[in-house]
Amino acid sequence: MKKLIEKISKLESISCALEPSQEQRDMYLSKVKHFGNDFINTLNKQKTFISSKHISDKFKITSKKKTIDEVITIYKEEIAEKGINPASGGHLGYIPGGGIYTAAISDYMVDITNEYAGMFYASPGAVSLENELINWMKEVFNYPNSAVGNLSSGGSIANLIALTTARDKHNIKGDQIKNSVIYISPQVHHCILKALRIIGLEDIGIHYLVLDEFSRINSELFREQIDLDIKNGLNPFMVIASAGTTDTGAVDPLYNIGKIANKMNLWYHIDAAYGGFFILTQSKKHLFKGIELSDSLVVDPHKGMFLPYGIGAVLIKDKDAVFQTHHYTADYMQDALIDEAPVNPADVSPELTKHFRGLRMWIPLQLHGLEPFVACLEEKLLLTTYFREKIKESGFQIGPEPDLSVSYFWFTPSKIDTNLFNKKLLEFIHDNGSIYFSSTILNKKFVIRVAVLSFRTKLEIIDKALKMIDQCLEKTINYFNKT
Ligand SMILES: *Cc1c(COP(=O)(O)O)cnc(C)c1O
Repeated sequence: MKKLIEKISKLESISCALEPSQEQRDMYLSKVKHFGNDFINTLNKQKTFISSKHISDKFKITSKKKTIDEVITIYKEEIAEKGINPASGGHLGYIPGGGIYTAAISDYMVDITNEYAGMFYASPGAVSLENELINWMKEVFNYPNSAVGNLSSGGSIANLIALTTARDKHNIKGDQIKNSVIYISPQVHHCILKALRIIGLEDIGIHYLVLDEFSRINSELFREQIDLDIKNGLNPFMVIASAGTTDTGAVDPLYNIGKIANKMNLWYHIDAAYGGFFILTQSKKHLFKGIELSDSLVVDPHKGMFLPYGIGAVLIKDKDAVFQTHHYTADYMQDALIDEAPVNPADVSPELTKHFRGLRMWIPLQLHGLEPFVACLEEKLLLTTYFREKIKESGFQIGPEPDLSVSYFWFTPSKIDTNLFNKKLLEFIHDNGSIYFSSTILNKKFVIRVAVLSFRTKLEIIDKALKMIDQCLEKTINYFNKT
């Protein structure tokens, strides 16, 4: 016994390093605080994109310990200052993310108390708070109170949860799969196709719908397609619309698609990961009419609510269907099973143990209220309009009036191949790096995208972007004149 106690004491003298003293905690926190302040205060001077193919050797796990100063330096130099700077207001590529400060301090609190947010029994507070956020989103999107939902790690997993539920509700398995049909837009986010594969539906019939000139699904042709498929003995099962596509920000005609889907008994899923929260704006809320007709809906608070990466959300109307798919239990869980408990996140998601990600959405909403979030969304819409008008003045062609805050532009040179020219132009823009743009292919045309969604994108940054593009355009023209 004595030997045993001696051994334990010896180990304790080592393992206690994992519980720093208050002095050490204060020291860590003050260094991290300094790093955070310095990062935010100098954001406007930092590049938005620094291309690097270098794989750092600083991340190697060795037995040698480092100081907090050393790890902060590694973080700053090897992580924060490489690639795309997602915290920068100059991030106008892909779909920009957020990272508001009040969410960061919420995450700090969550990590300290380490709430177990998967089950009501373990953390009634955390689970109730997350359910309240789900309730709020049900109101925002006009979903019935009986719907359920989940805060996931992002839009991809949120979509996966919805599609799995749809599959089971319609009993699509075995021989049924090859005969069944899903209708999607060619512009649907690729995570939908990935989810279909993960849930064993890679052999299902995927029928791509025809789009109009604004890249929205043509709902009349959709209706005709269903009739044709039924006539051919197929089993139309689900339609997926987007409220804000990644390529052009297009919002499909949600109401018309919903009417058809409901009538034809299709599962109606809407991917609103990027665009969903624009429903809060006065200027765009009309585009979301009919969103309430869907059976399931995905939004990404780490996009449209400017939160740090790691929070998506799904709402699903049919609670029984969700539970059928996701509710499991086991003997070792018996203490956690209580009658009449509210919906447990674990019953609605593939995750059991989960990060209490709701707090980073709840605290900012409490501290700021909703108004600045909505103002920020309206501001992004107007900045997109401003950018489009100005870039047109600079001699660029622009895509059609966008539904939301994503648009695209390209330059048509007189003698050189247009795609070649615009690719080179984007290369110069990336070399410059002060502002980041990405590209896509639309009707075989290489176009440069502008996506305004970072809460830090302000008028000043758009002006800076326009100036930079003008300079890069001149460079590109000179480049081709020389070759
Ligand atoms: C971002 C996005 C997704 C994927 O969401 P993640 O949060 O990146 O997993 C899905 N659909 C659309 C329309 C998106 O913009």
